[in-house]
Amino acid sequence: MTEMLTGVRTLQNFIDGEWRDASGAELLEDRNPATGEVLARVPLSGAADVDAAVAAARRAQAAWRETSPLVRARAIFALRDVLVEHRDEIAELVTRDMGKTLPDATAEVGRGIESVEAACGMPHLLKGENLEGVATGVDVSLIRQPVGVIGAITPFNFPAMIPLWFLPYALACGNAFVLKPSERDPLPSERIVQLLSGISEIPAGLVALVHGGQDVVNALLDHPGVDAISFVGSAATARHVMSRGAANGKRVQALGGAKNSMVIMPDADPGLMVGGVMGSAFGAAGQRCLAGSIAVLVGTREEQDRARDRLVEAAAKLQTGDGLDPRTDVCPVVSAEARERLAGEIAAAEADGITIALDGRGDAGPGGANLGPTILDDIPEGHRVLTEELFGPILSLVRVPDLGAAVEAVNASRYGNASVIFTESGGAAREYRYRVQAGMVGVNVGVAAPVAWFPFSGWKDSIDGDLHANGHDAVEFYTRKKVVTERWA
Ligand code: NAD
Repeated sequence: MTEMLTGVRTLQNFIDGEWRDASGAELLEDRNPATGEVLARVPLSGAADVDAAVAAARRAQAAWRETSPLVRARAIFALRDVLVEHRDEIAELVTRDMGKTLPDATAEVGRGIESVEAACGMPHLLKGENLEGVATGVDVSLIRQPVGVIGAITPFNFPAMIPLWFLPYALACGNAFVLKPSERDPLPSERIVQLLSGISEIPAGLVALVHGGQDVVNALLDHPGVDAISFVGSAATARHVMSRGAANGKRVQALGGAKNSMVIMPDADPGLMVGGVMGSAFGAAGQRCLAGSIAVLVGTREEQDRARDRLVEAAAKLQTGDGLDPRTDVCPVVSAEARERLAGEIAAAEADGITIALDGRGDAGPGGANLGPTILDDIPEGHRVLTEELFGPILSLVRVPDLGAAVEAVNASRYGNASVIFTESGGAAREYRYRVQAGMVGVNVGVAAPVAWFPFSGWKDSIDGDLHANGHDAVEFYTRKKVVTERWA
Protein backbone atom coordinates (compact mmCIF):
# COMPACT_ATOMS: atom_id res chain seq x y z
CA MET A 1 0.00 0.00 0.00
CA THR A 2 2.69 2.49 1.13
CA GLU A 3 4.86 1.32 -1.75
CA MET A 4 2.11 1.98 -4.29
CA LEU A 5 1.58 5.48 -2.97
CA THR A 6 5.21 6.57 -2.70
CA GLY A 7 7.33 4.16 -4.72
CA VAL A 8 9.44 3.55 -1.62
CA ARG A 9 9.66 -0.01 -0.33
CA THR A 10 8.78 -0.92 3.26
CA LEU A 11 11.23 -3.51 4.55
CA GLN A 12 10.05 -6.86 5.86
CA ASN A 13 11.41 -9.11 8.56
CA PHE A 14 12.80 -12.55 7.71
CA ILE A 15 11.34 -15.10 10.12
CA ASP A 16 11.03 -18.88 9.85
CA GLY A 17 12.37 -18.81 6.31
CA GLU A 18 9.92 -16.24 4.93
CA TRP A 19 9.65 -12.48 4.48
CA ARG A 20 6.88 -11.08 6.66
CA ASP A 21 5.45 -7.66 7.48
CA ALA A 22 6.42 -6.39 10.92
CA SER A 23 3.66 -6.31 13.50
CA GLY A 24 4.15 -2.62 14.44
CA ALA A 25 2.79 0.21 12.30
CA GLU A 26 5.56 2.77 12.92
CA LEU A 27 8.05 3.36 10.09
CA LEU A 28 11.37 5.22 9.87
CA GLU A 29 12.84 6.69 6.70
CA ASP A 30 16.17 5.25 5.58
CA ARG A 31 17.92 7.96 3.52
CA ASN A 32 20.99 8.11 1.32
CA PRO A 33 23.07 10.71 3.20
CA ALA A 34 24.71 11.96 -0.01
CA THR A 35 21.48 12.80 -1.80
CA GLY A 36 18.75 12.83 0.83
CA GLU A 37 16.80 10.24 -1.24
CA VAL A 38 14.54 7.97 0.82
CA LEU A 39 15.76 4.45 0.04
CA ALA A 40 13.32 2.46 2.15
CA ARG A 41 10.98 2.58 5.11
CA VAL A 42 12.14 0.63 8.11
CA PRO A 43 9.49 -0.91 10.35
CA LEU A 44 9.90 -0.59 14.10
CA SER A 45 9.17 -4.18 15.02
CA GLY A 46 8.19 -5.21 18.52
CA ALA A 47 8.23 -8.08 21.00
CA ALA A 48 5.77 -10.17 18.94
CA ASP A 49 8.16 -10.20 15.96
CA VAL A 50 11.10 -11.12 18.20
CA ASP A 51 9.04 -13.88 19.78
CA ALA A 52 8.20 -15.40 16.40
CA ALA A 53 11.83 -15.14 15.23
CA VAL A 54 13.21 -16.74 18.40
CA ALA A 55 10.65 -19.57 18.40
CA ALA A 56 11.53 -20.49 14.80
CA ALA A 57 15.26 -20.14 15.52
CA ARG A 58 15.02 -22.49 18.52
CA ARG A 59 13.23 -25.12 16.45
CA ALA A 60 15.80 -24.90 13.66
CA GLN A 61 18.75 -24.92 16.07
CA ALA A 62 17.68 -28.21 17.64
CA ALA A 63 18.34 -29.98 14.32
CA TRP A 64 21.30 -27.77 13.28
CA ARG A 65 23.33 -28.67 16.37
CA GLU A 66 23.08 -32.32 15.31
CA THR A 67 24.41 -31.53 11.85
CA SER A 68 28.06 -32.48 11.46
CA PRO A 69 30.52 -29.57 11.90
CA LEU A 70 31.86 -30.52 8.45
CA VAL A 71 28.45 -30.02 6.85
CA ARG A 72 27.96 -26.76 8.75
CA ALA A 73 31.34 -25.56 7.51
CA ARG A 74 30.29 -26.40 3.93
CA ALA A 75 27.26 -24.14 4.40
CA ILE A 76 29.62 -21.35 5.48
CA PHE A 77 31.78 -22.04 2.38
CA ALA A 78 28.62 -21.61 0.29
CA LEU A 79 27.93 -18.32 2.07
CA ARG A 80 31.48 -17.19 1.29
CA ASP A 81 31.01 -17.97 -2.41
CA VAL A 82 27.72 -16.13 -2.71
CA LEU A 83 29.14 -13.08 -0.89
CA VAL A 84 32.20 -12.99 -3.15
CA GLU A 85 29.90 -13.21 -6.18
CA HIS A 86 27.81 -10.27 -4.93
CA ARG A 87 30.62 -8.29 -3.32
CA ASP A 88 30.36 -5.22 -5.61
CA GLU A 89 26.59 -5.09 -5.31
CA ILE A 90 26.73 -5.20 -1.48
CA ALA A 91 29.48 -2.56 -1.47
CA GLU A 92 27.36 -0.22 -3.54
CA LEU A 93 24.46 -0.75 -1.14
CA VAL A 94 26.78 0.15 1.76
CA THR A 95 27.76 3.39 -0.01
CA ARG A 96 24.18 4.37 -0.82
CA ASP A 97 22.83 3.49 2.61
CA MET A 98 25.64 4.54 4.96
CA GLY A 99 27.60 6.98 2.79
CA LYS A 100 31.22 5.76 2.83
CA THR A 101 33.16 5.83 -0.44
CA LEU A 102 32.89 2.87 -2.78
CA PRO A 103 36.54 1.73 -2.29
CA ASP A 104 36.01 1.92 1.49
CA ALA A 105 32.73 0.00 1.22
CA THR A 106 34.39 -2.63 -0.97
CA ALA A 107 37.11 -3.04 1.65
CA GLU A 108 34.43 -3.35 4.35
CA VAL A 109 32.65 -6.14 2.49
CA GLY A 110 36.04 -7.80 1.92
CA ARG A 111 36.73 -7.79 5.66
CA GLY A 112 33.30 -9.28 6.31
CA ILE A 113 34.08 -12.05 3.82
CA GLU A 114 37.35 -12.69 5.68
CA SER A 115 35.36 -13.42 8.83
CA VAL A 116 33.30 -15.90 6.83
CA GLU A 117 36.52 -17.48 5.54
CA ALA A 118 37.91 -17.74 9.07
CA ALA A 119 34.71 -19.48 10.22
CA CYS A 120 35.09 -22.04 7.39
CA GLY A 121 37.86 -23.58 9.51
CA MET A 122 35.43 -24.36 12.32
CA PRO A 123 35.87 -28.15 12.38
CA HIS A 124 39.49 -27.48 13.33
CA LEU A 125 38.64 -24.70 15.79
CA LEU A 126 35.92 -26.72 17.55
CA LYS A 127 38.23 -29.60 18.44
CA GLY A 128 38.49 -30.11 22.18
CA GLU A 129 41.23 -31.25 24.56
CA ASN A 130 41.85 -34.43 26.45
CA LEU A 131 44.09 -35.78 29.16
CA GLU A 132 44.57 -39.49 29.50
CA GLY A 133 45.03 -41.17 32.87
CA VAL A 134 44.25 -38.40 35.36
CA ALA A 135 43.77 -41.33 37.77
CA THR A 136 44.15 -45.05 37.19
CA GLY A 137 41.96 -45.87 34.17
CA VAL A 138 40.35 -42.40 34.20
CA ASP A 139 40.43 -40.10 31.16
CA VAL A 140 39.14 -36.54 30.85
CA SER A 141 38.05 -34.73 27.72
CA LEU A 142 36.71 -31.29 26.94
CA ILE A 143 34.10 -30.90 24.23
CA ARG A 144 32.46 -27.76 22.86
CA GLN A 145 28.74 -27.48 22.24
CA PRO A 146 26.71 -24.61 20.79
CA VAL A 147 25.16 -22.05 23.12
CA GLY A 148 21.75 -22.00 21.38
CA VAL A 149 20.12 -18.87 19.96
CA ILE A 150 22.31 -15.79 19.48
CA GLY A 151 20.84 -12.28 19.26
CA ALA A 152 23.05 -9.83 17.35
CA ILE A 153 22.61 -6.05 17.49
CA THR A 154 24.76 -4.01 15.13
CA PRO A 155 25.65 -0.32 14.53
CA PHE A 156 25.29 1.88 11.44
CA ASN A 157 28.95 2.46 10.62
CA PHE A 158 29.82 -1.01 9.24
CA PRO A 159 26.44 -2.25 8.01
CA ALA A 160 27.90 -5.27 6.16
CA MET A 161 31.08 -6.17 8.07
CA ILE A 162 29.80 -6.19 11.65
CA PRO A 163 26.86 -8.57 11.04
CA LEU A 164 29.49 -10.78 9.36
CA TRP A 165 31.76 -10.61 12.42
CA PHE A 166 29.14 -12.68 14.21
CA LEU A 167 26.89 -14.62 11.84
CA PRO A 168 29.36 -17.10 10.28
CA TYR A 169 31.01 -18.04 13.59
CA ALA A 170 27.69 -18.41 15.40
CA LEU A 171 26.28 -20.68 12.69
CA ALA A 172 29.44 -22.73 12.21
CA CYS A 173 29.48 -23.41 15.96
CA GLY A 174 25.95 -24.84 15.68
CA ASN A 175 23.85 -21.90 16.85
CA ALA A 176 20.83 -20.06 15.44
CA PHE A 177 21.09 -16.33 14.78
CA VAL A 178 18.62 -13.44 15.11
CA LEU A 179 19.97 -10.17 13.67
CA LYS A 180 18.72 -6.68 14.54
CA PRO A 181 20.68 -4.38 12.21
CA SER A 182 20.96 -0.61 12.62
CA GLU A 183 17.66 1.01 11.69
CA ARG A 184 19.67 3.76 9.96
CA ASP A 185 21.13 1.58 7.18
CA PRO A 186 19.68 -1.95 7.20
CA LEU A 187 19.85 -2.62 3.42
CA PRO A 188 23.21 -4.46 3.34
CA SER A 189 21.99 -6.79 6.11
CA GLU A 190 18.79 -7.42 4.20
CA ARG A 191 20.78 -8.34 1.07
CA ILE A 192 23.12 -10.65 3.00
CA VAL A 193 20.15 -12.48 4.53
CA GLN A 194 18.46 -12.71 1.11
CA LEU A 195 21.60 -14.33 -0.31
CA LEU A 196 21.92 -16.64 2.69
CA SER A 197 18.30 -17.76 2.32
CA GLY A 198 19.20 -19.30 -1.04
CA ILE A 199 21.78 -21.66 0.52
CA SER A 200 20.12 -25.06 0.76
CA GLU A 201 22.37 -26.33 3.59
CA ILE A 202 21.10 -23.58 5.94
CA PRO A 203 17.66 -24.64 7.24
CA ALA A 204 14.67 -22.29 7.29
CA GLY A 205 14.31 -20.43 10.56
CA LEU A 206 17.96 -20.74 11.60
CA VAL A 207 18.71 -17.12 10.66
CA ALA A 208 16.21 -14.34 11.28
CA LEU A 209 16.30 -10.62 10.52
CA VAL A 210 14.16 -8.32 12.64
CA HIS A 211 14.15 -4.61 11.82
CA GLY A 212 13.67 -1.94 14.44
CA GLY A 213 15.19 0.07 17.23
CA GLN A 214 15.45 -0.19 20.98
CA ASP A 215 12.19 -2.13 21.47
CA VAL A 216 13.61 -5.01 19.43
CA VAL A 217 16.89 -4.80 21.37
CA ASN A 218 15.10 -4.92 24.70
CA ALA A 219 12.84 -7.76 23.54
CA LEU A 220 15.96 -9.77 22.61
CA LEU A 221 17.58 -8.93 25.95
CA ASP A 222 14.47 -10.03 27.87
CA HIS A 223 13.55 -13.10 25.82
CA PRO A 224 14.14 -16.38 27.69
CA GLY A 225 14.73 -18.12 24.35
CA VAL A 226 17.82 -16.02 23.56
CA ASP A 227 20.97 -17.50 25.10
CA ALA A 228 23.63 -14.95 24.15
CA ILE A 229 23.94 -11.44 22.77
CA SER A 230 26.64 -10.04 20.49
CA PHE A 231 26.44 -6.25 20.40
CA VAL A 232 28.40 -3.43 18.77
CA GLY A 233 27.52 0.25 19.20
CA SER A 234 28.11 3.26 21.41
CA ALA A 235 29.42 2.91 24.97
CA ALA A 236 26.13 3.95 26.59
CA THR A 237 24.13 1.38 24.64
CA ALA A 238 26.80 -1.28 25.27
CA ARG A 239 26.51 -0.71 29.02
CA HIS A 240 22.69 -0.98 28.82
CA VAL A 241 22.89 -4.17 26.75
CA MET A 242 25.42 -5.73 29.13
CA SER A 243 23.46 -4.85 32.31
CA ARG A 244 20.05 -5.93 31.04
CA GLY A 245 21.33 -9.02 29.26
CA ALA A 246 23.38 -10.16 32.25
CA ALA A 247 20.49 -9.48 34.63
CA ASN A 248 18.47 -11.89 32.47
CA GLY A 249 21.17 -14.54 32.73
CA LYS A 250 22.53 -14.21 29.21
CA ARG A 251 26.07 -14.44 27.94
CA VAL A 252 26.89 -10.96 26.54
CA GLN A 253 29.72 -9.40 24.54
CA ALA A 254 29.11 -5.67 24.04
CA LEU A 255 31.68 -3.71 22.05
CA GLY A 256 31.34 0.02 22.73
CA GLY A 257 32.62 3.41 21.65
CA ALA A 258 36.09 4.84 21.20
CA LYS A 259 38.28 7.91 21.27
CA ASN A 260 41.48 6.85 19.57
CA SER A 261 44.78 8.72 19.70
CA MET A 262 47.57 8.75 17.15
CA VAL A 263 50.98 9.61 18.60
CA ILE A 264 53.27 11.44 16.17
CA MET A 265 56.93 11.35 17.17
CA PRO A 266 59.30 13.99 15.75
CA ASP A 267 61.14 11.28 13.79
CA ALA A 268 57.98 9.92 12.11
CA ASP A 269 58.26 9.26 8.38
CA PRO A 270 56.22 12.19 6.98
CA GLY A 271 54.65 10.15 4.16
CA LEU A 272 53.52 7.29 6.38
CA MET A 273 52.37 9.70 9.07
CA VAL A 274 50.35 12.06 6.88
CA GLY A 275 48.76 9.23 4.84
CA GLY A 276 47.94 7.27 7.99
CA VAL A 277 46.44 10.21 9.85
CA MET A 278 44.35 11.36 6.88
CA GLY A 279 42.84 7.88 6.39
CA SER A 280 42.29 7.38 10.07
CA ALA A 281 40.81 10.77 10.99
CA PHE A 282 38.80 11.49 7.85
CA GLY A 283 38.16 8.11 6.17
CA ALA A 284 34.45 7.22 6.44
CA ALA A 285 34.12 10.82 7.71
CA GLY A 286 35.59 9.78 11.05
CA GLN A 287 32.75 7.32 11.67
CA ARG A 288 34.82 4.26 12.50
CA CYS A 289 35.38 2.76 15.90
CA LEU A 290 39.05 2.81 14.85
CA ALA A 291 38.94 6.44 13.72
CA GLY A 292 41.88 8.47 14.99
CA SER A 293 40.23 11.52 16.50
CA ILE A 294 43.22 12.85 18.47
CA ALA A 295 46.72 13.50 17.11
CA VAL A 296 49.28 13.74 19.91
CA LEU A 297 52.13 15.88 18.55
CA VAL A 298 55.36 15.06 20.39
CA GLY A 299 58.45 17.27 20.56
CA THR A 300 59.46 20.91 20.75
CA ARG A 301 56.96 23.64 19.78
CA GLU A 302 58.70 23.87 16.41
CA GLU A 303 58.43 20.10 15.80
CA GLN A 304 54.78 20.12 16.85
CA ASP A 305 54.02 23.04 14.51
CA ARG A 306 55.73 21.23 11.63
CA ALA A 307 53.53 18.15 12.16
CA ARG A 308 50.41 20.32 12.48
CA ASP A 309 51.20 22.22 9.25
CA ARG A 310 51.67 18.95 7.36
CA LEU A 311 48.32 17.65 8.60
CA VAL A 312 46.41 20.86 7.87
CA GLU A 313 47.94 21.12 4.40
CA ALA A 314 47.03 17.53 3.49
CA ALA A 315 43.52 17.68 5.00
CA ALA A 316 42.72 20.91 3.15
CA LYS A 317 43.23 19.03 -0.14
CA LEU A 318 40.69 16.28 0.61
CA GLN A 319 37.48 16.35 -1.43
CA THR A 320 34.18 15.96 0.39
CA GLY A 321 31.18 14.55 -1.49
CA ASP A 322 29.10 11.58 -2.57
CA GLY A 323 30.80 8.26 -1.85
CA LEU A 324 29.88 7.03 -5.33
CA ASP A 325 31.95 9.84 -6.92
CA PRO A 326 35.48 8.49 -7.50
CA ARG A 327 36.92 11.95 -6.69
CA THR A 328 35.54 11.86 -3.15
CA ASP A 329 37.95 11.37 -0.23
CA VAL A 330 35.59 12.28 2.63
CA CYS A 331 32.04 10.95 2.50
CA PRO A 332 28.99 12.58 4.10
CA VAL A 333 28.24 11.76 7.72
CA VAL A 334 25.34 9.39 8.28
CA SER A 335 22.54 12.00 8.30
CA ALA A 336 21.77 15.69 8.14
CA GLU A 337 21.02 15.52 11.90
CA ALA A 338 24.50 14.11 12.59
CA ARG A 339 26.01 16.92 10.50
CA GLU A 340 24.09 19.52 12.49
CA ARG A 341 25.25 18.01 15.79
CA LEU A 342 28.90 17.98 14.64
CA ALA A 343 28.75 21.55 13.32
CA GLY A 344 27.38 22.47 16.77
CA GLU A 345 30.38 20.80 18.45
CA ILE A 346 32.77 22.84 16.27
CA ALA A 347 30.90 26.09 17.04
CA ALA A 348 30.98 25.32 20.78
CA ALA A 349 34.72 24.59 20.61
CA GLU A 350 35.28 27.91 18.81
CA ALA A 351 33.26 29.72 21.47
CA ASP A 352 35.52 28.11 24.10
CA GLY A 353 38.57 29.72 22.45
CA ILE A 354 39.84 26.64 20.63
CA THR A 355 41.67 27.41 17.36
CA ILE A 356 39.92 26.06 14.25
CA ALA A 357 43.05 25.24 12.23
CA LEU A 358 40.86 23.84 9.43
CA ASP A 359 37.12 24.44 9.20
CA GLY A 360 34.97 21.88 7.37
CA ARG A 361 31.66 23.69 7.84
CA GLY A 362 31.20 24.59 4.18
CA ASP A 363 28.47 23.45 1.83
CA ALA A 364 26.40 20.68 3.45
CA GLY A 365 25.63 19.16 0.01
CA PRO A 366 22.35 17.90 -1.47
CA GLY A 367 21.66 15.51 1.42
CA GLY A 368 22.62 18.13 4.05
CA ALA A 369 25.16 15.68 5.52
CA ASN A 370 28.52 16.83 4.09
CA LEU A 371 31.11 18.03 6.57
CA GLY A 372 34.70 18.61 5.50
CA PRO A 373 37.83 17.72 7.48
CA THR A 374 38.15 19.90 10.56
CA ILE A 375 41.25 20.31 12.75
CA LEU A 376 41.18 21.83 16.25
CA ASP A 377 44.28 23.19 18.02
CA ASP A 378 45.14 24.88 21.35
CA ILE A 379 42.60 22.79 23.25
CA PRO A 380 42.31 23.18 27.03
CA GLU A 381 43.02 19.98 28.97
CA GLY A 382 39.88 17.89 29.60
CA HIS A 383 37.76 19.68 26.97
CA ARG A 384 34.96 17.52 25.58
CA VAL A 385 36.52 17.45 22.09
CA LEU A 386 39.29 15.40 23.76
CA THR A 387 37.10 13.22 25.96
CA GLU A 388 33.86 12.59 24.02
CA GLU A 389 33.46 10.43 20.95
CA LEU A 390 32.26 12.99 18.37
CA PHE A 391 32.09 10.45 15.50
CA GLY A 392 32.77 12.83 12.61
CA PRO A 393 35.69 14.21 10.55
CA ILE A 394 37.08 16.28 13.43
CA LEU A 395 40.71 15.88 14.48
CA SER A 396 41.85 17.36 17.81
CA LEU A 397 45.52 18.17 18.36
CA VAL A 398 47.28 17.63 21.69
CA ARG A 399 50.84 18.87 22.24
CA VAL A 400 53.27 17.07 24.58
CA PRO A 401 57.07 17.23 25.04
CA ASP A 402 57.98 13.52 25.05
CA LEU A 403 56.81 9.90 24.69
CA GLY A 404 56.14 9.53 28.44
CA ALA A 405 53.72 12.47 28.39
CA ALA A 406 52.13 11.11 25.21
CA VAL A 407 51.43 7.73 26.85
CA GLU A 408 49.98 9.52 29.88
CA ALA A 409 47.68 11.64 27.67
CA VAL A 410 46.49 8.59 25.71
CA ASN A 411 45.92 6.41 28.78
CA ALA A 412 43.88 9.16 30.50
CA SER A 413 40.95 8.28 28.21
CA ARG A 414 38.05 6.20 29.54
CA TYR A 415 38.20 4.36 26.21
CA GLY A 416 40.85 1.94 25.00
CA ASN A 417 39.80 0.75 21.58
CA ALA A 418 42.80 1.49 19.38
CA SER A 419 45.91 3.63 19.33
CA VAL A 420 48.75 4.10 16.90
CA ILE A 421 52.24 5.55 16.94
CA PHE A 422 54.22 6.98 14.04
CA THR A 423 57.96 6.76 14.60
CA GLU A 424 61.14 5.46 13.00
CA SER A 425 62.44 4.36 16.40
CA GLY A 426 61.97 0.67 17.26
CA GLY A 427 62.60 1.51 20.91
CA ALA A 428 59.85 4.15 21.03
CA ALA A 429 57.45 1.80 19.22
CA ARG A 430 58.23 -1.02 21.64
CA GLU A 431 57.81 1.23 24.67
CA TYR A 432 54.49 2.50 23.33
CA ARG A 433 53.17 -0.96 22.51
CA TYR A 434 54.08 -2.08 26.04
CA ARG A 435 52.54 0.87 27.93
CA VAL A 436 49.45 1.87 25.94
CA GLN A 437 46.05 0.80 27.26
CA ALA A 438 44.28 -0.27 24.06
CA GLY A 439 43.03 -3.47 22.50
CA MET A 440 44.39 -2.69 19.04
CA VAL A 441 47.75 -1.03 18.53
CA GLY A 442 49.22 0.21 15.26
CA VAL A 443 52.81 1.09 14.45
CA ASN A 444 53.13 3.32 11.38
CA VAL A 445 49.63 2.30 10.23
CA GLY A 446 46.74 4.73 10.55
CA VAL A 447 44.04 2.16 11.21
CA ALA A 448 44.93 -1.10 12.90
CA ALA A 449 42.07 -2.73 10.99
CA PRO A 450 40.47 -6.02 12.05
CA VAL A 451 42.09 -9.21 10.79
CA ALA A 452 39.46 -11.96 11.01
CA TRP A 453 41.81 -14.63 12.40
CA PHE A 454 42.58 -12.47 15.46
CA PRO A 455 40.15 -11.32 18.14
CA PHE A 456 38.98 -7.73 17.70
CA SER A 457 37.99 -5.28 20.43
CA GLY A 458 39.20 -2.62 22.82
CA TRP A 459 39.79 -2.28 26.54
CA LYS A 460 38.16 -0.17 29.27
CA ASP A 461 34.84 1.47 28.26
CA SER A 462 35.31 0.25 24.68
CA ILE A 463 33.98 -3.15 25.73
CA ASP A 464 31.59 -4.61 28.26
CA GLY A 465 32.26 -8.31 28.61
CA ASP A 466 35.40 -10.36 28.23
CA LEU A 467 35.45 -12.05 24.86
CA HIS A 468 36.25 -10.08 21.74
CA ALA A 469 34.77 -10.59 18.27
CA ASN A 470 36.37 -12.94 15.71
CA GLY A 471 39.25 -15.38 16.05
CA HIS A 472 39.39 -17.89 18.91
CA ASP A 473 37.32 -15.55 21.10
CA ALA A 474 34.36 -16.07 18.76
CA VAL A 475 34.61 -19.84 19.23
CA GLU A 476 34.78 -19.35 23.00
CA PHE A 477 31.77 -17.06 22.95
CA TYR A 478 29.55 -19.20 20.74
CA THR A 479 30.25 -22.52 22.50
CA ARG A 480 29.84 -23.96 25.97
CA LYS A 481 32.52 -26.20 27.33
CA LYS A 482 31.67 -29.64 28.70
CA VAL A 483 34.28 -31.68 30.58
CA VAL A 484 33.73 -35.44 30.62
CA THR A 485 35.51 -37.73 33.10
CA GLU A 486 35.35 -41.43 32.17
CA ARG A 487 36.27 -44.76 33.73
CA TRP A 488 35.48 -48.07 32.05
CA ALA A 489 35.52 -51.42 33.83
P1 NAD B 1 24.19 3.00 18.78
O1 NAD B 1 24.62 2.60 20.13
O2 NAD B 1 23.36 4.22 18.62
O3 NAD B 1 23.34 1.81 18.10
C1 NAD B 1 23.81 0.49 18.04
C2 NAD B 1 22.62 -0.45 18.06
O4 NAD B 1 21.95 -0.33 19.31
C3 NAD B 1 21.61 -0.17 16.97
O5 NAD B 1 21.18 -1.38 16.41
C4 NAD B 1 20.50 0.56 17.71
O6 NAD B 1 19.22 0.30 17.17
C5 NAD B 1 20.60 0.03 19.12
N1 NAD B 1 20.27 1.05 20.14
C6 NAD B 1 20.56 2.39 20.08
N2 NAD B 1 20.13 2.99 21.22
C7 NAD B 1 19.58 2.03 22.00
C8 NAD B 1 18.98 2.05 23.30
N3 NAD B 1 18.85 3.16 24.00
N4 NAD B 1 18.53 0.87 23.80
C9 NAD B 1 18.64 -0.27 23.10
N5 NAD B 1 19.20 -0.34 21.87
C10 NAD B 1 19.67 0.80 21.32
O7 NAD B 1 25.51 3.08 17.87
P2 NAD B 1 25.63 3.63 16.37
O8 NAD B 1 25.52 5.11 16.39
O9 NAD B 1 24.77 2.84 15.45
O10 NAD B 1 27.14 3.20 16.05
C11 NAD B 1 28.24 4.00 16.31
C12 NAD B 1 28.90 3.59 17.62
O11 NAD B 1 29.34 2.24 17.54
C13 NAD B 1 30.15 4.39 17.94
O12 NAD B 1 30.15 4.67 19.31
C14 NAD B 1 31.28 3.45 17.56
O13 NAD B 1 32.51 3.70 18.24
C15 NAD B 1 30.70 2.15 17.98
N6 NAD B 1 31.37 1.05 17.30
C16 NAD B 1 32.22 0.27 18.04
C17 NAD B 1 32.90 -0.76 17.43
C18 NAD B 1 33.83 -1.62 18.23
O14 NAD B 1 34.34 -2.59 17.69
N7 NAD B 1 34.08 -1.31 19.48
C19 NAD B 1 32.73 -1.01 16.06
C20 NAD B 1 31.84 -0.19 15.34
C21 NAD B 1 31.17 0.83 15.97
